[in-house]
Amino acid sequence: MKQSHLFTKTKKEAPADEVAKNAELLIKAGFINKEMAGVYSYLPLGLRVINKIQNIIREEMNAIGGQEVTLTALQEKATWEPTNQWDDAEVDVWFKTKLKNETELGLAVTHEAAMTKMLKSFVESYRDLPVNIYQFQTKFRNETRAKSGIMRTREFIMKDLYSFSKDEAEHNEFYEKAKEAYKNVFKRAGIGHLTYLTFASGGMFSKFSHEFQTITSAGEDIIYVDESKGIAINKEVYNDEVIANLGLSKETLVENRAVEVGNIFTLATRFSDALNLKYKTETGEEKSVFMGSYGIGPGRLMGTVVEVLSDDKGIIWPESIAPFKVHILELGDDMEVKTTANALYATLQSKGIEVMYDDRTGMSAGEKFADADLIGIPYRVVISPRSLKDGGYEVKKRTEGKGKIVNIDELTEILNG
Ligand code: ATP
Ligand code: MG
Repeated sequence: MKQSHLFTKTKKEAPADEVAKNAELLIKAGFINKEMAGVYSYLPLGLRVINKIQNIIREEMNAIGGQEVTLTALQEKATWEPTNQWDDAEVDVWFKTKLKNETELGLAVTHEAAMTKMLKSFVESYRDLPVNIYQFQTKFRNETRAKSGIMRTREFIMKDLYSFSKDEAEHNEFYEKAKEAYKNVFKRAGIGHLTYLTFASGGMFSKFSHEFQTITSAGEDIIYVDESKGIAINKEVYNDEVIANLGLSKETLVENRAVEVGNIFTLATRFSDALNLKYKTETGEEKSVFMGSYGIGPGRLMGTVVEVLSDDKGIIWPESIAPFKVHILELGDDMEVKTTANALYATLQSKGIEVMYDDRTGMSAGEKFADADLIGIPYRVVISPRSLKDGGYEVKKRTEGKGKIVNIDELTEILNG
């Protein structure tokens, strides 16, 4: 993409009411636009990142047998009544609305009930199970506090997967696979080293739910980490009994602030009982389907990456989710510089490398460097009269202080490596 074609521009300042570092940087760099408190739009650069995050999640969900669907965001009151979740006292973040004929509707907060109801048309016998169904779908939540930028918004996309198994043993088998798939997602997105499987409350049917918590001062949760075991306990369930149960010890647990980037938990038969999702066993007996729920917020994940991987100059994207791999910076309006930069842009594109080309005119080198650092693309290639005199292209990683001059073969080798 040529940067001169990009309609977004970098900004010197984020809106005065923006307090979260992730949103400040993402707004200044042109990835997102703030529509109102807790509501953000994704712009071309931001959409590229969110799509990459979603693709990583999609690959991992497909690898454990997930089947992708998209359910609707409009939901009937009747879907929620059997589990008593239409009640505002039970679920206090509803956005509700009505049809012209007064029928009450809700904007999806989550989809356990809707997914269970949908599956009733397809499950009859033990032969139809297990199935694991997921989506990337918009949730609406009237969150009271929305001060964490894109980490907590009132409208957001969630990857939610629901597992439907014949019994607890079959459920547990999938649950363990999902745990591993989640670890892969966070590792591939560049925050694996800061993310811990965390024992938390909310396990109505199992003792715990499992959260994936990433350590950051921007988080809203407190967790206690056992570094050597790679696990943590959420403050909400942190007590002597739980510590002992998990075979941990107070001495090795370190308190940290963290954000929940994902969670998985056993629903057992709460929804299948309430909504009557049953199947016939081999002996003809009728049984409730055994369920689990598995969520990740791609937007929250993106915000978390920005929180933990940035410096005073801007964002530092991991290659796996960066909007582009390389940022070509053409400096000055020397004809040879332009011709060389254009040719490099074409060459890299032909090799399937994702390139952003800063071909903007009338800007100082300093302004282009500052923009490149703010946007945070992993590799920067400068083409200037000086680099040409020195024999080629000046390449450096976003995290490196100084670049080095290389020729085209060396450059493609670096970028393919
Ligand atoms: P929290 O305790 O942070 O409110 P939650 O328990 O409500 O999270 P779930 O309903 O289980 O979370 O949602 C699954 C995932 O969706 C979360 O792990 C998180 O990544 C993401 N998520 C939840 N709420 C939001 C939100 N308001 N904005 C963005 N992402 C969210
Ligand atoms: Mg919540």
